Amino acid sequence: MSGRVFVVGLGPGKPDQMTPEARAALAQASDFLGYGPYLDRLELSQGQTRHASDNREELSRARAALDMAAAGRTVAVVSGGDAGVFGMAAALCEAVESGPAVWRAIDLHIIPGVTAMLAVAARAGAPLGHDFCAISLSDNLKPWEVIETRLRAAAGAGLVLAFYNPVSRARPWQLGRAFEILRDILPASTPVIFGRAVGRPDERTAITTLDEARADQTDMATCVIVGSPETRIVERDGLPPLVYSPRSAGRPAR
Ligand code: SAH
Repeated sequence: MSGRVFVVGLGPGKPDQMTPEARAALAQASDFLGYGPYLDRLELSQGQTRHASDNREELSRARAALDMAAAGRTVAVVSGGDAGVFGMAAALCEAVESGPAVWRAIDLHIIPGVTAMLAVAARAGAPLGHDFCAISLSDNLKPWEVIETRLRAAAGAGLVLAFYNPVSRARPWQLGRAFEILRDILPASTPVIFGRAVGRPDERTAITTLDEARADQTDMATCVIVGSPETRIVERDGLPPLVYSPRSAGRPAR
């Protein structure tokens, strides 16, 4: 008898930002797999078993989930934010592609969530109101040269950039280097938003400009949004500024 796998995005941290569909999927599961801090967010009931693993073990976690489902269990694999954005959904698909034929028959449900950049953007205004892209600055799964090429292309094309995994203890310099590259391409006044642990009790959001943006106050719980040349900061008396990207864009300068 084959079971089921739910791949569930838990949202950025605030319980209200977990979708009802995600909650309903979690309620059905017997086994929960994921990175420990994500599993810590869940209140499991009796009969629900937790299988925590390290953050880097995504493919082996995905395979373990498929093995359990093949044995008839109902499994929830959890990610922060949205499971499809630098999360477990791609690892599950990869495991199905490279695994035994029986895994292709497993009932697999991928449940969307609120990804970090949306929660950060909403705190600041509407910086993603026009075309944008998301880039992970981690060079664990791709060479740094690829990241630089994508940064230049995306900024040069006028896209707003959302950076995931901007720094970590093992990757201290990548965000600073990304800012250096962008300073050659974008105006000094380009808005930059740092959203840290958005939706959690230790949340902190800061708005600055590209010439003043500093990488050394950022940690791995931060999502950084760098505006396009069209992104604007609207100052408000006694209130935080609004950052937004206008809905329409002009022709590029020749
Ligand atoms: N699947 C997740 C992203 C995982 S990658 C999602 O959709 O949000 C991990 C990165 O996500 C972190 O390095 C950080 O850049 C970002 N992130 C996750 N939760 C966040 C939060 N609450 N506030 C700000 N950034 C967050």
